[in-house]
Amino acid sequence: MFWYRFRSIVSWAVLLLLTLAALPIGGTLAGFGRRLAGCQPLDAALHGSLTAVVVWLGITLLLGRVYCSIFCPLGIIQEYMAHLGRKHLGTSRRHTRECLALRIEILACFAALGAVFVFFGRKEWLGAFDPYTLYTKAVEAVVLLAKTAFHRQLPSGLAGDFCAAGLILVFFSLALTIAVSILALFKGRIFCNTVCPLGTILSLLGRLAPVRIRIKRAECVNCRRCASHCAAACIHVREKKIEAGCCTLCANCLKDCPKNAIGFGLSLRSAQPAEKQSGEQK
Ligand code: SF4
Ligand code: SF4
Ligand code: SF4
Repeated sequence: MFWYRFRSIVSWAVLLLLTLAALPIGGTLAGFGRRLAGCQPLDAALHGSLTAVVVWLGITLLLGRVYCSIFCPLGIIQEYMAHLGRKHLGTSRRHTRECLALRIEILACFAALGAVFVFFGRKEWLGAFDPYTLYTKAVEAVVLLAKTAFHRQLPSGLAGDFCAAGLILVFFSLALTIAVSILALFKGRIFCNTVCPLGTILSLLGRLAPVRIRIKRAECVNCRRCASHCAAACIHVREKKIEAGCCTLCANCLKDCPKNAIGFGLSLRSAQPAEKQSGEQK
């Protein structure tokens, strides 16, 4: 429960601060948000700073996908949308076998596309692969739309703020953020565990983490409540296994288990492959 409360409070604080940082405003909170933004791993890497990358890779190797739990704005939004889906639409998750080969193929496609962008001198488009940059560009798009609506035309001087390519990027980011959020409403963290390039890298490391969420076999009564509330669809109740590479450390399962049969523990084994067939286990 500690992690659930910690995750809930910290993730919303991070989202608020990163949103303020993306707005054209000053102030202490926005300034603090900009310092937090400097800790975003992919954005830092794209700007040639490796410190944040090394720190996050180290945290992931030790504890799993903490970044996806509390620090990625797109992940925080998806978690909330999945929660809304559960609460108001009655959506329920079923364990789904991870298709690692597909994830790696998608990651390779992103890498090839990134090389094309660099080759044609369009490095700014690499930001489209970074969930944090996508989110900040989406906020920029909303600000731009709000300013335009307020002035009932493109405000003077605004057209100079964005070149045509920049405009395409901000509206592409807004469209993708909305699409991913709606997808999460019905399908949980499927974007995180299928498409997101950073998520795939973190997933590859997270499955090696010795500290991970585990089911206590002796105490579990197979009620499947944890699995139906897991936005990442990574709980394999019959096998009493959680796919560590897919777990986004939301801690919903810890909160919802009626027997307190699930919690953090040490494991030096990599995540076991799931059952050959996908779908909820009998
Ligand atoms: S998988 Fe990608 S979008 Fe999802 S939380 Fe992690 S970094 Fe963010
Ligand atoms: S919610 Fe708890 S008791 Fe129920 S299946 Fe999950 S771990 Fe077992
Ligand atoms: S296993 Fe638990 S902590 Fe991990 S994603 Fe599923 S519900 Fe969240």
